[in-house]
Amino acid sequence: MKRPLLNRRLGGLGTTIFAEMSARAVATGAVNLGQGFPDVDGPADIAEAAAEAVRTGKGNQYPPGPGIPELRTAVADHQQRFYGLAYDPDTEVLVTAGATEAIAAAMLALLEPGDEVIAFEPYYDSYAANIAMAGATRVPVTLKAPDFRPDLDRLRDAITGKTRLILLNSPHNPTGMVLTRAEARAIADLAMAHDLLVVTDEVYEHLVYDREHVPLATLDGMRERTVCVSSAGKTFSFTGWKVGWVTSTPALVSAVRTTKQFLTYVSGGPFQYAVARALALPGAYYQNLATDLRVKRDLLAGGLAEIGFEVYQPDGTYFITTDVAPLGERDGIEFCLNLPDKAGVVAIPSAVFYDDKEAGRTQVRFAFCKRAEVLQEALSRLAVLAR
Ligand code: PMP
Ligand code: GLN
Repeated sequence: MKRPLLNRRLGGLGTTIFAEMSARAVATGAVNLGQGFPDVDGPADIAEAAAEAVRTGKGNQYPPGPGIPELRTAVADHQQRFYGLAYDPDTEVLVTAGATEAIAAAMLALLEPGDEVIAFEPYYDSYAANIAMAGATRVPVTLKAPDFRPDLDRLRDAITGKTRLILLNSPHNPTGMVLTRAEARAIADLAMAHDLLVVTDEVYEHLVYDREHVPLATLDGMRERTVCVSSAGKTFSFTGWKVGWVTSTPALVSAVRTTKQFLTYVSGGPFQYAVARALALPGAYYQNLATDLRVKRDLLAGGLAEIGFEVYQPDGTYFITTDVAPLGERDGIEFCLNLPDKAGVVAIPSAVFYDDKEAGRTQVRFAFCKRAEVLQEALSRLAVLAR
């Protein structure tokens, strides 16, 4: 068989870095600060709500295609409560298998082969895959250390007659950059001037420290061209449940629903009931989540800096991007491949999130959504790297 089995659009994608590094952590017994998942589950009463839904036969059979009404209503209420955005639960909300499916369904629905999609790199790994699946072309605009602010002139220059949409992630994985209101407005103005759609990946919306999260859809003129994506994984510390959602106009939601139907059709029936409950948790829940993570951020950032990493303090997400050059390292991929044996810790080389590999060659990402004692243990292991 001469032809490669994997179609040529996806050639070179391989196994995700997260799967690879988590498998290494298990095989070597290393502390896993690689893949972003909390080591403590979310609220017990929300877990109990999922168990009760299973026991009482809620969602054990196919839930409705767009998601159960209780969850669509809870998503709409959440958008109203936190952002003052009104969405009709029946026509403007779609439940998906995590944000991952929402983004994939949006790309497959909204792109034609040959279209261009602009995204800030480093970008979350599924973006490149989804854009490729749609036969479209990704056009990266690089966020540069040390502050990873978006370069709006470069963004403007990247727009061509083929540009269909901007795929935007704020708070941003892996850099922790959070768009300011002025930056969000400037991006919105470009989208409006060039009649572009914007897909916003807001999965870290509640993981912001001393900053506000500004959904693009809240800006004048943007609601009708923005497909807003989020999910329960990070906000409620249940990353394995894979419950996500889309909010947008009826026409855009309907387009995304059309592709979503043929990806999973539906998923996570009982978990949808539990997430509906979770979204209604009081403000204190959301505040405590951010307060707790900020303490962990400061613990890990301080410790890494003391060891000799260059640390880029994140304003959001539960990731810290570092540079390992001050430790005498030249290549983050090599550094991360050796780290489990050398120090008993797993981290993610940010180079895999860049098209411009040089821009991220010595950047390494650490997750801090772990118990304080686990972060301490990782730091004491990493101390062997101090020069
Ligand atoms: N977008 C970003 C930026 C992410 O970091 C993640 C992952 N964890 C996702 C999307 C996927 O979210 P989900 O687990 O809800 O599919
Ligand atoms: N979003 C998580 C991270 O960036 C990983 C999710 C996944 O493994 N696909 O670490």
